[in-house]
Amino acid sequence: MANGKHRVVVVGGSFGGVNAAYQLRRKLGDRVEVTLISADADFLFIPSLPWVMMGWRKPDAIKVPLAGPLRRKGVSFIHDRATAIDPQAQTVTTAGGKVFPYDHVVLATGSDLDWSNVPGSDPAEGTVHTCFTVKQAVAARDAIARFLASDGGRAIIGANPGASCTGPAYEIIMMLETALRRQKRRHLFDLHLVTPEPFLGHFGVNGIGNMSRMMEDEFHSRHLKWTTSAALTAVEPGKATLADGTELPFDLAVLIPAFYGAQVARDVEGLGNPRGFIPTDKHLRSTKYSNIYAVGVSVAIAPPVPTPVPVGVPKTGHMCEEMATRAAANIAVEVTGSGELVDGLTLPATCVADAGDVGFYIKADPFLPPRNVAVLRRGVRYHYVKLAFERFYLEKVKRDLPAMHFGW
Ligand SMILES: Cc1cc2nc3c(=O)[nH]c(=O)nc-3n(C[C@H](O)[C@H](O)[C@H](O)COP(=O)(O)OP(=O)(O)OC[C@H]3O[C@@H](n4cnc5c(N)ncnc54)[C@H](O)[C@@H]3O)c2cc1C
Repeated sequence: MANGKHRVVVVGGSFGGVNAAYQLRRKLGDRVEVTLISADADFLFIPSLPWVMMGWRKPDAIKVPLAGPLRRKGVSFIHDRATAIDPQAQTVTTAGGKVFPYDHVVLATGSDLDWSNVPGSDPAEGTVHTCFTVKQAVAARDAIARFLASDGGRAIIGANPGASCTGPAYEIIMMLETALRRQKRRHLFDLHLVTPEPFLGHFGVNGIGNMSRMMEDEFHSRHLKWTTSAALTAVEPGKATLADGTELPFDLAVLIPAFYGAQVARDVEGLGNPRGFIPTDKHLRSTKYSNIYAVGVSVAIAPPVPTPVPVGVPKTGHMCEEMATRAAANIAVEVTGSGELVDGLTLPATCVADAGDVGFYIKADPFLPPRNVAVLRRGVRYHYVKLAFERFYLEKVKRDLPAMHFGW
């Protein structure tokens, strides 16, 4: 406590962090002093990065500078990288040398990308493209533009073993197919999805409703090839190799890697599991340090069933937002001493995946099976829902609008 106020430091300026900071101010008002530390100056609507890759969106159109909106809502914004968390001293230190004491920390630090299990696949080596930052998306955009303008070629789009965020690979391959079909040059290109998932539409959650059949129909009708339970073992310029020795030549490769927890969380003794994700109780409190909450991708969630090739559990934007809201509610209960702690791990997930011409609306509650709700819809309207949702969400971040989940 400082000046009678409870100090919460939120680390991370994306879906988890921004929502946690706003919700804490909403729930606790002047009783709380909220500081948000983010390595990024802007909030980035990551779900639109595939559109950036296709050249359909300018990067500046999917960003919101964080400083102004957070300040207006009474949140101190520190644009810096947190380099150390000391659970004993209860401080967070930044690269700039500032030290922030806390009563509670909310870690919304997402993940780092782990390319190490597939030698040659790290985009830094120049062979493969990926889709997590604007810089990566812009590099991919230029490669995709060259690919689409060529006389014909082969693309592999997919994920390395252990990846948990396979959805964007489906979006990207269907967008490529849409673009080529619109150019009437689809017949010149070979598009191949290569995924560790045991079946199409598994998505790390053992499928949702009849998603598997829906995706198979979609891939058949778009003449897309796919290899499931694919264990990529190496990539070199123009060629990827699978564990069974299959060689896949390519002119364009876009891959999604496995994740591990963010460095700052991995560095705290006992906080993370072996891959650096943070085990929590059902209220989202670290099982080791009860005043450290984790939300979003940084939380450890075990796969619902084992798969022949490892696949991680995705944490969608909607889930991250829900976790942030519930973590803030639980901190408010702890601060005020009134109310009940809520479950932050039994979550619904709503998502809209875009294919360029149509979209897919997916609702799963809870996100892991067995479920009470599993809804799948396909249609042109969902392409537009996703477009509208992007606009809504950027406004939501600017003005702390109430949550609406129509377009996740
Ligand atoms: C291409 C793509 C498309 C996607 N499409 C969808 C979709 O359609 N629907 C959907 O629901 N989800 C989608 N997702 C998933 C969604 O983007 C994630 O669920 C979401 O971004 C996770 O939010 P987060 O807050 O947990 O972490 P992240 O978004 O990973 O953000 C982590 C934040 O922490 C900051 N940070 C990390 N370490 C530090 C540090 N040491 N100090 C300070 N700051 C730090 C980072 O700068 C960043 O601001 C997509 C993901 C990708 C990659």
